Amino acid sequence: MPNCPNCNSKDVVKNGFIHNGNQNHKCKACGRQFVEAPRQKLISEETKALIDKLLLEKIPLAGIARVCDVSETWLQNYVNRKYEAIPQQVNVSAKKKGRLTIQCDEMWSFVGNKGNKQWIWLAIDVDTREIVGVHIGDRSAQGAQKLWNSLPSVYRQCAVAYTDFWNAYSNPK
Ligand SMILES: [Zn+2]
Repeated sequence: MPNCPNCNSKDVVKNGFIHNGNQNHKCKACGRQFVEAPRQKLISEETKALIDKLLLEKIPLAGIARVCDVSETWLQNYVNRKYEAIPQQVNVSAKKKGRLTIQCDEMWSFVGNKGNKQWIWLAIDVDTREIVGVHIGDRSAQGAQKLWNSLPSVYRQCAVAYTDFWNAYSNPK
């Protein structure tokens, strides 16, 4: 049984359920009723490593969430944090000039926001499997240009981009 969030008493009893089915509690010391704060599920490093791999495949976020037993909300936040960190990562990892090959993939549509369909555009270094560029936006030539702009300059100078999806740019459906 959780301690009372008001007086920290251990003298707490179950007190029915609230509208969403969560257990309600009542503190017998101060009378405060409360629902236990949702526990932050600890996501193991192994799971995160697996998610990192799955993110490089064309798997919808909802599928990754199911397989890895994490919530879509958590996964969305994890992905967002990851992408926010990418520019710094790319800047610190020094690239020797030469023949760099990147593979560009359009990823999943964002879950839970059907009115405003978002695409994740990823540029992946084929040799190191590093994500070197990312753009989140609509599926348009403009999105493609922004993905290109997100690449570190060394890639823009030297990279041979796979045109797997580059065609989608010129002929957006
Ligand atoms: Zn209390």
